[in-house]
Amino acid sequence: MFGAFLLNGLKESRMLFHQDNPVTGLYIIEVAESYNLDFEHVFFLDMNEGCFPKVTHHDSFLPYDLCHSFGLPLADKVAENKTAYGFYRLLQRAQNICCYFSQKGHLDGSGEMSRLLLQLTFDSKLKIIETHHSINLLERPVAAIAIQKDDSVMQLLDRFLEKEEGAVSSLTPSACISYLSCPLQFYFKYLLQLRQTVATEDVQLGILFHDVMARLYRPFAGSQIDTNMVRQLQSKIKVEIAEAIAAWRTPLSAPMLLHALLEKLLGRMLDLDDAAAPFTLLGVEVAMKQSIMLDGEIARKVWLSGTIDRIDRQNHCVRIIDYKTGRSNCKISSIVNLFDPGKIKTNKAVFQLFFYAWLFQSLHGADNAIMPYLIPIREFFLAHYTPGIFIQQPDNGPLSKAIYDVAIEFGKRSGKKYQQIEDIKEYLQPFEEGLKGLLVEIFNPTIPFAQTEDLEICGYCPYVRICQRD
Ligand code: SF4
Repeated sequence: MFGAFLLNGLKESRMLFHQDNPVTGLYIIEVAESYNLDFEHVFFLDMNEGCFPKVTHHDSFLPYDLCHSFGLPLADKVAENKTAYGFYRLLQRAQNICCYFSQKGHLDGSGEMSRLLLQLTFDSKLKIIETHHSINLLERPVAAIAIQKDDSVMQLLDRFLEKEEGAVSSLTPSACISYLSCPLQFYFKYLLQLRQTVATEDVQLGILFHDVMARLYRPFAGSQIDTNMVRQLQSKIKVEIAEAIAAWRTPLSAPMLLHALLEKLLGRMLDLDDAAAPFTLLGVEVAMKQSIMLDGEIARKVWLSGTIDRIDRQNHCVRIIDYKTGRSNCKISSIVNLFDPGKIKTNKAVFQLFFYAWLFQSLHGADNAIMPYLIPIREFFLAHYTPGIFIQQPDNGPLSKAIYDVAIEFGKRSGKKYQQIEDIKEYLQPFEEGLKGLLVEIFNPTIPFAQTEDLEICGYCPYVRICQRD
């Protein structure tokens, strides 16, 4: 708010905005990042409590109070200390200092002045003059963003098409999910490749879990796995976790806790494998790539790819396995729903497995049944833990006893019945049709990359600042 107010006031000014001249001009900088420069006139904006210093959150497995009691580093305290240091340092040599705070209607903070400013009014020897201003800010409409598919954008899309020299890139299930969630997000992420790295503890746990499972099983790809082998693998868990953590390039926020959590989850995973043995391991981290022909005025082939966590065969049934460490839904009402942008938030994991199963079948055919096998790691220790994918059945549809038990578990609130998909083949034709429809839309030059209407998706989007939806 004050930024707009200040810049508005400076519109008529002849002040220079030099980038290359460090001596004169206006600098707009973070208080904590003033590069140890001294300024004659300093304007501190948004000095509301809750905003200056800014409240920061850091996801952690460790409860905040526990960290505080044991003197462990806390992200919010580090941010507070940096702001306080920057503030007091800038006060030292400035001739004029203006501090602004708003008494009401502030977006992030409270209607109170920052504690840093309040303290100055008590114990500093500075000559403080307090004045009140009223500001009437006009509402600025945020312009909607829609990227038209002109020649340059179509060229970016071209990299996914099959050509004589081969495609440069391929569309993954994540790319399709991104498009269904928000076409503009897909444009930013997969065409402009504006990537953002997130390394929360949840993400670290997921990556390390996948890594250790691959390290354990990779040497046995193509072999029959029996209970003896699984028990041998169990004895290697600690060593493999240590090696996976050592190979992790960025520092882990809570390595001991992650180690203990991984040990417990991997131990449970191998217990489940022990119960399922014997099975033939067909591969781990299996990369697959296949093209799909799109009908239309111009026939085009689009490259699709994905990496499957694990593929094994058990009693003439090939299991396409995907470990999910995050929250995931394993039941759908219909195949058509997988392509519904309004439902993709809850159907991501199922969409991904259908995509993998489609890749597997189109590359290897299918003499055996193909079972999509979602392993929800968060539910390992729940009484109703049930891996797999479930599809809604008509109310009067037949259900076997074993499936009915599962259906009761999932459907107890909605009253709906779900059946586990034991062979995905009968569902792959409608899935392929839906997939083609989605791809035709992505490559349709008359349909722009528009923003989603679902603001909840924006809440987790790394491009939220660009769209001004934060
Ligand atoms: S912020 Fe929202 S509208 Fe913008 S790209 Fe992300 S999801 Fe789409």
